[in-house]
Order: sequence, then C-alpha cells, then structure tokens
Amino acid sequence: MKKKIAIIGAGIAGLTFANLIKKNSDHEFMLYEKQESLSLDEGYGIQLSTNTIKILNIIGFNKIDSTKIFHPIGVDFYNIQNKKICDLDLTQFNQEKSKYTTLQRSTLIEFLKDDIYTQHLRFGKKIKEVSELKGKVLIKFDDNTNDLVDLVVGADGIFSNTRSFFEKKKNEPEFKKAIAIRTILKTKSELNIDDEKISLIMGKNCHIVIYPLNKSKEFNLVCIVRDKKYHPDNIKLLVDRVISQNSNLKKAFEGDLKSWPLYSTPRILPSTNSKVFYIGDAFNGFLPTLAQGAGQSIESAYELFNLIEEDKTDIQNAYFQVRSKRATIVRRRSNINFFSFHLSSSIMQVIRNFFMKFLLKRKRFISSYLGTVYKN
Ligand SMILES: Cc1cc2nc3c(=O)[nH]c(=O)nc-3n(C[C@H](O)[C@H](O)[C@H](O)COP(=O)(O)OP(=O)(O)OC[C@H]3O[C@@H](n4cnc5c(N)ncnc54)[C@H](O)[C@@H]3O)c2cc1C
Repeated sequence: MKKKIAIIGAGIAGLTFANLIKKNSDHEFMLYEKQESLSLDEGYGIQLSTNTIKILNIIGFNKIDSTKIFHPIGVDFYNIQNKKICDLDLTQFNQEKSKYTTLQRSTLIEFLKDDIYTQHLRFGKKIKEVSELKGKVLIKFDDNTNDLVDLVVGADGIFSNTRSFFEKKKNEPEFKKAIAIRTILKTKSELNIDDEKISLIMGKNCHIVIYPLNKSKEFNLVCIVRDKKYHPDNIKLLVDRVISQNSNLKKAFEGDLKSWPLYSTPRILPSTNSKVFYIGDAFNGFLPTLAQGAGQSIESAYELFNLIEEDKTDIQNAYFQVRSKRATIVRRRSNINFFSFHLSSSIMQVIRNFFMKFLLKRKRFISSYLGTVYKN
C-alpha cells in the first residue's frame, strides 16, 4: 500500500533511505533537515565495506566518477615508531562490482543528494510537536508548517531529537573519553606507509588511521586520542602527546586540524511507536574503530526500506530483530578494537601485537571477525 513518509535528518542514513524510496518504490516522502544546507565542506573521509557498496549500487553508486573514490587493497598495522606489525588483505572481501572503498564524506553526500535535492528536501525544519490524528502522525515544525504522514523515519543522528518526541525512555549518548582529530594530507609526507593501503598506527592511548581518499591520492588522517575531557583549545596538547611518541609524525599534523569528541549510545532500544523508526546513528551510534558508522547507516536504511516494501504486518518488530542483531555484532567489535588500539602498557602492546600477527593469518578468525560484518 502506498504510504506517506517523513524522514527527519539529511545525513547519510536519511539520504540513503530517501534514494531507495525515490528510485525503487511509489511511496510519497519528504526529507526534513534542521540546517539551512547540506554540510558539503565537511571533508573527512569514510571507509565503506563491500556490503555497503552492494546497497549503494542499487541506487547507482557504480556510476560515480571513479577518480573521486579509492579501493584500498589492505590494512597495514604499525606500532607508533612506524614499524609494521602485520597486515590484512581487504581484496578477499571484494566482488567484481562491490569493492572496499574510501572517499570523502562530501563525495558520498553529493551523490546521495542528486535526485532528492529539488523536490524532496526541506531545510531549516525542526520538529516542534507531534500528535496522532486518524491513525496517522501529525508533525508540526517550528516554522509553523506541518505534515500528516503514515510513517516517521528518525535519521537525525546520535543526539536524535526525534526520539525525545516519541520515546519516554532516554538513551543519552556517552562520551567515550576519546577525541578524534582529523586532517587531509596532500602527500604521505615522511611516513613509511603503502599508499595503496589503509595504515593503522597504534601508540600509547592513541591510534592514527591514514588512507587515500581518491585517485589523486589525497590522504585522510584521523587520530583518536584518549582523554577525560574534550576542549577544542586543548587539541595542540593532545597532538603533542602523539608526536612525543614519534617526532616523524610532526609533519602529518601541520595542516588544518578539526576535532570532535567521540560518543556512542549505551543501549540498543526499540521504537515504542509502531509508526516511528530510527535509522543510522539515531538507532545506535558506534565508536569509529571498525569504520562501520556510515556503513551501518546505509544498511539500516536498506533493511527498513525492504520491510516497508514487503508491507509486512509487524514491521516494527521485524526491523528491531534484524537491526539490533547487526548493531550488537558491530558494537562488540568496535569496542574490542577501541580497547586494543589504545593500550598504554608496553608489555600489553607486545602481547597484542603477537596475537594480531597470529590471528590475522587465520582465515577462520578473519571470516568470523570481519566476514560476518562485511557479510561474506
Ligand atoms: C572520527 C570518525 C570517523 C569515522 N569514520 C567512519 C568510517 O571510516 N566509515 C564509516 O562508515 N563511518 C565512519 N564514521 C561514522 C559516520 O560518519 C556516522 O556514523 C554517520 O555519518 C551517521 O550518519 P547518520 O545519517 O545516521 O547521522 P548524521 O550524519 O549525524 O546526520 C544526521 C542529520 O540530521 C540532521 N539533524 C539533526 N537533528 C535534527 C533535527 N532535530 N531535525 C532535523 N534534522 C536534524 C543533522 O543536521 C544531519 O544532517 C566516523 C565517525 C567519526 C566520529
């Protein structure tokens, strides 16, 4: 049955869901974004694993300008002295049309917005009030406009405001006592890394991830540093803490640095309203240490889209079953990585490196630890 759907939030999750609806169904929809424009200057990179690319190909990602994306062939793990510990072959997860991909977030948003922008996206919209009317949901926005819809899809990120209108139980995101610092490198500078791969450098209470973003080999650098408090003015101090472990890293941090605190959602909770769904970070926010945040946003949009298309009776329950199972798998692995990438004791680091070398050679381990996430 044809439905009218309001999507709240035009991030990766909301835009993916909108594309699926637009290109593969007859449902009516509108995407409501609180900002006045899409943040296309937000240049940080994202990694998309093969399962995500498969979904994006359904909405035409295979036609994207190939110079704007990159297919890293593996991950090299280093200690903070830039000495290689071991590596992981990423091509083992690739298929002909869906390869592990890195790109700028803005490239993905540009692609996702193309077919939605003019007719289906409204800016400067924030929910003021919600109520039920004749079996539908009436949404009133703070600019005094409203919409009467069959379904609401909350895609407004980890601090979801939509949840606060529909859910009594709070699920406040937790600050994970870690800060992300990002910059773009024009060259791999003095680092001894392979520019066809993702490089993961592990230090004391910090780790750095560097990867090419496109065919012109601009590199994304994200450094996660553990610290009890976040203050943008203290970023230099945090960077100094990293550089003090290897002075060769200094050059890598000389560009424009952006920072943000890392949060994750403590519990995975279902929606209590049969007409309201949460996708992406609004469903559950992960730590970035498995590089699956955007991927899970895309997957959750696809799962919900399929269930709505099938027009099952209990979509809410079916969606929560499948989504919570996936989120639990990803959350567990993101947390394990978060712990092991930041060890401060040198003895623990030696033990970790030994186990990493051992485990990354084991096909069975790789297929259960990563294959289940990448759905291989
Ligand atoms: C350091 C770091 C590195 C990362 N690296 C990766 C990676 O390599 N791979 C990966 O897959 N993921 C990565 N992620 C995670 C990924 O970026 C996020 O998980 C993903 O962007 C979430 O998408 P979303 O659409 O759910 O939410 P968001 O991107 O947060 O979008 C939410 C949208 O809703 C809007 N909004 C908010 N409130 C309202 C409101 N009240 N009304 C209307 N609109 C509203 C916002 O303005 C925004 O446009 C990383 C994250 C971090 C912090």
